Amino acid sequence: MTRPPVRPDHDATTLDGGELHKFIFQGLPVRGMLVRLTGAWQQMLAAREGSGAYPAPVRRLLGEMSAAATLMQANIKFNGALILQMQGDGPLQLAVAEVQPDLALRSTAQVVGEVADQAQLHELLNIHGKGRCAITLDPLDRKPGQQPYQGVVPLSLQDDQGRTRPMRQLSEVLEHYMLQSEQLETCLVLAADDTVAAGLLIQRLPTEGGVQSPRKGDTDDLDEHYRRIAMLAATLKPEELLGLDTETLLRRLFWEEDLRRFEPLTGELGPRFACTCSRTRVGRMLVGLGRDEVDSVVAERGSVEVGCEFCGNRYEFDAIDVTELFLAGSGLTGASPTMQ
Ligand SMILES: [Zn+2]
Repeated sequence: MTRPPVRPDHDATTLDGGELHKFIFQGLPVRGMLVRLTGAWQQMLAAREGSGAYPAPVRRLLGEMSAAATLMQANIKFNGALILQMQGDGPLQLAVAEVQPDLALRSTAQVVGEVADQAQLHELLNIHGKGRCAITLDPLDRKPGQQPYQGVVPLSLQDDQGRTRPMRQLSEVLEHYMLQSEQLETCLVLAADDTVAAGLLIQRLPTEGGVQSPRKGDTDDLDEHYRRIAMLAATLKPEELLGLDTETLLRRLFWEEDLRRFEPLTGELGPRFACTCSRTRVGRMLVGLGRDEVDSVVAERGSVEVGCEFCGNRYEFDAIDVTELFLAGSGLTGASPTMQ
């Protein structure tokens, strides 16, 4: 796998970003994954400090989203970004966690209203039932005009009697998504504080072949195994997920199971904070806005300054930069008006 060179202003090698552990339950159609974001998560919060820290419930949700998006990216074989996005009608307007195939990740949130200290998911994003969670897979080699794949789920559930109730946890929303769009039974436990964002995923593997259905008794047995392991996972408390090292955590939960673990992904190969923004991309975005729009800002303020919502980097373009930009950019087609 090739990796884009790390720019000096984004050098994250001095701080360990986090770790990702994959494992299977020997002989059973169940797999698991555990992620702990440490340096990566602390850097994401620090990058935000310049423009004001997020309220605590938003920090927690964004941490859980970052852990969940890392698990979901590591769970698929896909050459592109996985973007987990929550949009709503509460004080939190938008929250985004984006993970590249090499586990480089970034996140951001837009808070537009007052957030209560203990606000739950539905109080942040789903006050009038309009909250949505979208998972986008954006291929790195996307052709012009090709749309990225997107799956969307609401943040409310309907019970058997047709009554609607808001979901209170991100894990519940994502379990629902996995079942609905991937037909995969999944158990997720997520937690985040200001130092660690972590997640545990237990998933039932699709039965291989698929054509020949197993005998009824076999299916029952396989169901039984998944249910037992998922129930064990669900006993994990947030403070244990955040506070215990991986060895202790897996031993405590699954000491009676036959676990086969893979080499953990850490350091250069593990999850870490990195932003994909650059002066070139910001320039392209400005060209997309149009010369008149950009010139009017320069006339008013002397230059255009654009800040990256993910990493806090600021890019300034004065009148000369802008002239050069539009001269060079006049040949560009399909310039995107957004920075994402
Ligand atoms: Zn950035």
